[in-house]
Amino acid sequence: REDEVICAGCGITIQTEDKEKPGYTPAQALQRDVVICQRCFRLKHYNEVQDVSLTDDDFFKVLQQLGERKGLIVKIVDIFDFDGSWIDGIHRHTGGNPVLLVGNKVDLLPKSVKRSKVIHWMKKEAKDRGLKPVDVHLMSASSGESVQETAEKIDQYRNGKDVYVIGSTNVGKSTFINRLLADFGAENDMMITTSNIPGTTLDMIDVPLDDGSSLFDTPGVMNSHQIVHLLDQKEMKKMTPVKEIKPTVYQLNEGQTIFFGGLGRIDFVQGEHQSFIVYMANDLYLHRTKTEKADELYKQHLGTTLAPPSENNAHLFPDLEKKEWKIPEGKHDVVFSGLGWVTVDGKGAVVRTYVPKGVQVSIRPSIF
Ligand code: GDP
Repeated sequence: REDEVICAGCGITIQTEDKEKPGYTPAQALQRDVVICQRCFRLKHYNEVQDVSLTDDDFFKVLQQLGERKGLIVKIVDIFDFDGSWIDGIHRHTGGNPVLLVGNKVDLLPKSVKRSKVIHWMKKEAKDRGLKPVDVHLMSASSGESVQETAEKIDQYRNGKDVYVIGSTNVGKSTFINRLLADFGAENDMMITTSNIPGTTLDMIDVPLDDGSSLFDTPGVMNSHQIVHLLDQKEMKKMTPVKEIKPTVYQLNEGQTIFFGGLGRIDFVQGEHQSFIVYMANDLYLHRTKTEKADELYKQHLGTTLAPPSENNAHLFPDLEKKEWKIPEGKHDVVFSGLGWVTVDGKGAVVRTYVPKGVQVSIRPSIF
């Protein structure tokens, strides 16, 4: 198309409509001789990457092109939202490239949770989903814990080749790359490569590494089953843990229920008296009640006592879907993707979980 303007940085088609989408540039910036998209602009002038998110289809194209290149793929997941932040099918498209799996947000885990157990669990989860990473590593991009080690691992496994960082939105990919830029790239004049051929680019931000290789930041993909899509910024703040989680312990009898704000609930359907330990954001309001009253309570108080969602948004919030689980012997975590988990003693407990449609629930041997 004749009126199409191409970003001189990454080659993406420039658009001036949607700030959240790739290629966005403010209209007045089109007057400049050299037009670059906002994402490249930020990187060039502020040494900072910004996440843009792609549709599933576009992201699939990015993945396909990854397989045609040679390099290390660094896949970042949010260990607090493993299911929600997992991108399916990576292994089918990596073309034999090694994948380093990095679990971010380790700062949220209570100190009592053994890191080695978390790594073991991540390995198993990856394997169950068909991915065999060359290594699994934990870090906190925001606190800086183990970021240096992650950078070292990347350097070790990339073997002098390029690096592609992938992750769904909100896993902390930008925070991580910005930290790398601050720690390692600050003195270099961050140059954006202009050699990309328009139309063939991966829409990736190119961060040059010392030896002439590149670290590419790929755009994130929105996973439609991430619970965050159902909430606005303020509501999200309530449910997103921001610091080390302080678990809440309940001694429950069968016939009791715990609400996680209005976002979900767990019923203790059957089993002997035992503890239910909730690992969720410290700010999230937990409410214990009798199961027989729970439906009515939810109807009456969603958006008020049981929030988030807030009162304004409660009417838009989807109905909760329920599912019954028999907990295997021994301590197990009932994981509510994006929210956290509830550790149950086992002892033959039967529980019922309630979450908005699309949000995943799973059971794992306790990582506590
Ligand atoms: P991106 O969409 O993958 O680029 O994610 P961002 O870097 O924008 O981060 C998403 C959210 O997660 C932001 O609110 C960050 O502050 C937060 N975040 C990123 N890294 C960490 C981390 O290591 N620990 C915690 N607790 N929060 C993090």
